[in-house]
Amino acid sequence: MSGDLTFVFEGEPAPGEIREAAPGVFWLRMPLPFKLDHINLWLLEDGDGWTIIDTGINRDEVKAAWEQVFADHFTDRPLKRVIVTHFHPDHIGLAGWLTERFDVELWTSAAEWTFARMLSIDTGEDLMDCFRRFYRLAGFDDDLMALVEKRANPYPTRVSPIPTAFRRISDGDEIDINGRTWRIMVGTGHAPEHCCLYCEDLNVLISGDQILPIITPNISIWPQEPDADPLKLYLGSLPRFKPLPDDVLVLPSHKWPFTGLHGRLDVLAHHHDERLEETFAACAEPLTGVEVLKHLFKRELDDHQVFFAIGESLAHLHYLMGQGRIEKIQGKDSTPDRYRQVAA
Ligand SMILES: [Zn+2]
Repeated sequence: MSGDLTFVFEGEPAPGEIREAAPGVFWLRMPLPFKLDHINLWLLEDGDGWTIIDTGINRDEVKAAWEQVFADHFTDRPLKRVIVTHFHPDHIGLAGWLTERFDVELWTSAAEWTFARMLSIDTGEDLMDCFRRFYRLAGFDDDLMALVEKRANPYPTRVSPIPTAFRRISDGDEIDINGRTWRIMVGTGHAPEHCCLYCEDLNVLISGDQILPIITPNISIWPQEPDADPLKLYLGSLPRFKPLPDDVLVLPSHKWPFTGLHGRLDVLAHHHDERLEETFAACAEPLTGVEVLKHLFKRELDDHQVFFAIGESLAHLHYLMGQGRIEKIQGKDSTPDRYRQVAA
């Protein structure tokens, strides 16, 4: 399955610049301090002002890029509303800063606001105990556990204070932006209630992290929900986008705008088929989560990536458990969980 994608623009806007991607829909790109070094945001003309979709992570260089946008475009046309696709810091990180500065509301789904607000203030020792238990059972050695201690809950430092109140958007809601109807399409698996926005009029889908070109969205188990099956949720929500036209212009949060939605949906599903078979084959012998990670990720991982990699490895194991193909040998204390094929 090649999944023919067409990237419709050359290059990308520099930080602080805006570029029109569709009538009244402008593309911004903000820096990220990770290997994935950028996020795309979408600034929509909205009557006498603007609506922004996603905000960037809470860093000085992102605020500086925003200041440039304010100076160039917001003097006679202020920000009227902030819509956020999901709670991850690169998306909601500056929502509090923007809503306070322009005295506007944050619009997002109930689950995304709740996760953001909760994680931004959840810094207690009980959370660290939850992390320690989870990563020990996943097979982390002492070096990796030192990383868990050092990292702690990184969320509060990556976001400006999450607004204490918000306006809820839900699947199927229709929002009027500049006289055009945008329909909320909720996806699951990457985040609990991830909001995509589709405008039939413009034939544009703002896909957030739910549908990405080139790279696949992170589908992970996190310590707070250790028995989750997010891959089942993700694969289950992909077909919801199939009824959209294949030539819809997809505006994703990472990499570049593209057309060729249907092929991309197939590739995203197929990618996981292969990873699932690799995971299943590896578990001919009982393996820990970390040992499965080493089968799935041959490349060197940095301190940030290792948490996503273990989360993804466990997500594949849990999906196979849900199918009855893999079983877990429950660990305890310093003995990690092990996973093995269910005897045929
Ligand atoms: Zn995300």
